Amino acid sequence: MKGLLLPSGSRIPVLGQGTWNMGEDPSARRGEVAALRLGLELGVTLIDTAEMYGEGGAEEVVGEAIAGRRDQVFLVSKVYPHNADRRGVQAACERSLRRMKTDSIDLYLLHWRGNVPLEETLEAFVRLREQGKIRDFGVSNFDLDDMLEAAALPGGELIATDQVLYNLSRRGIEWELLPWCRERRIPVMAYSPLESNPNEQAGLLGNPQLAAVAGRHGVTPAQVALAWLLRQENVVVIPKAVRPQHVRENRAALDLAPALSAEDLAQLDAGFPPPQRRRPLAMR
Ligand code: NAP
Repeated sequence: MKGLLLPSGSRIPVLGQGTWNMGEDPSARRGEVAALRLGLELGVTLIDTAEMYGEGGAEEVVGEAIAGRRDQVFLVSKVYPHNADRRGVQAACERSLRRMKTDSIDLYLLHWRGNVPLEETLEAFVRLREQGKIRDFGVSNFDLDDMLEAAALPGGELIATDQVLYNLSRRGIEWELLPWCRERRIPVMAYSPLESNPNEQAGLLGNPQLAAVAGRHGVTPAQVALAWLLRQENVVVIPKAVRPQHVRENRAALDLAPALSAEDLAQLDAGFPPPQRRRPLAMR
């Protein structure tokens, strides 16, 4: 799978699997584990999770899915802001490791900014890195002003990603956050690439311009939405899918990305205009 380099020199795959809403319902667990394993078999080796998802339940699902194949997986998890002080980060990370039955996380993120001073969280991340419990660390839901502040702190130069809401109908980051990250070679992880909320997803996937592009290629609108993100420079895309058909379609979006033509891209710009001014970062 194509990858991007993190500032540390480690490689991150450009397509992954999200896990939000997994690990909440025991009767769904088998299907969730099977979906993640199918993704791994298809070569989608990045898995994105968080201690928040199912209050640890999603990390347990991940642990089961990656058992016996940890070395193939690029594992991302996140710490709650209320656990992001010196001791809290250490304890939260160790709990996540136990739930996922692994001894290291490839990329560990602050889920969003809370009340703990950033320098404290960064210090704790650096210590976890020295202990080998995480390989890289980063942030999520940080707008440019937060990134500027964090980057100037000790350890801030090691911030490996900003995971943010980004899809065809949420293009605000193209104004300044995405260019800033590109300039510094900090990959941006695009979450909710298909809009997880059903009404918002219907608005995105029902767009007539998107449908027209999908029709030309004989693929689904969701695949074009993912392929468009995969075309963006310096962007990692992490759709969540439990239905096996969705997992397969999402993997196939990787092959569609280079096939999108200038005409397709212009039509998508017409259907989903790029930002014309600065807007605050959109969040889930
Ligand atoms: P998403 O991946 O954009 O959308 C998920 C929804 O789309 C599910 O209902 C899924 O259905 C459906 N879907 C998946 N593939 C599809 C396809 N090919 N065609 C049609 N529908 C499809 O939304 P998300 O879960 O919010 O975002 C993805 C991941 O990003 C999360 O799971 C999480 O890991 C991460 N995330 C991070 C943050 C943050 O604050 N850092 C916030 C939100 C999300 P099925 O599951 O039924 O297949």
